[in-house]
Amino acid sequence: MASKKTQLKIIILGDSGVGKTSLLNRFVETKFTQLYRATIGADFLMKEIEVEGQTVNLQLWDTAGQERFQSLGMSFYRGADCCLLVYDMTNQKTFESLGSWKDEFLKASCPDDPKTFPFIVIGNKCDREIDRAISYNRAQQWANSNDVVFLETSAKDDLNVNEAFIEGARKAMKRE
Ligand code: GDP
Ligand code: MG
Repeated sequence: MASKKTQLKIIILGDSGVGKTSLLNRFVETKFTQLYRATIGADFLMKEIEVEGQTVNLQLWDTAGQERFQSLGMSFYRGADCCLLVYDMTNQKTFESLGSWKDEFLKASCPDDPKTFPFIVIGNKCDREIDRAISYNRAQQWANSNDVVFLETSAKDDLNVNEAFIEGARKAMKRE
């Protein structure tokens, strides 16, 4: 039996402003910054976690603001083991973009088996319940019909953030 891969490449996609960088920062450095910044610098962050008794190195790839221009290079997608698709649950348009982000990912990364590729759908900013634009049920239905896992998170209040990344890693490892 082939030994399990201990390094996983996870990429995070979604419209600008949904909170991708905030989720990564929360997960990796456990901090939240209110300031909006277009991401610059490093292409990816690393974090070591334990999944089902195994040490796994996560390589977490963030877009550096290029999502506005849809110009992510091929190296961004190559070899991805899992893809997190993020929308802002207070912004309907970002939810409606999920399908095109998923298609774009599959087109660019060409995974062996697109039908079973692990995607995690994340409805971020769930601390802003009062401004909710997408019901939980609606998002759950989209996730069911696309056969992917769905979670609501808050990078601001640190709700479900670890769970989302760990679920992604677990799904990715199941495929190895
Ligand atoms: P990105 O463009 O997808 O990387 O989004 P950012 O991480 O830069 O976040 C965009 C804006 O949303 C920033 O002003 C963040 O402070 C804010 N933000 C991110 N996550 C949350 C969250 O969970 N709750 C709230 N209320 N604001 C958030
Ligand atoms: Mg960003």
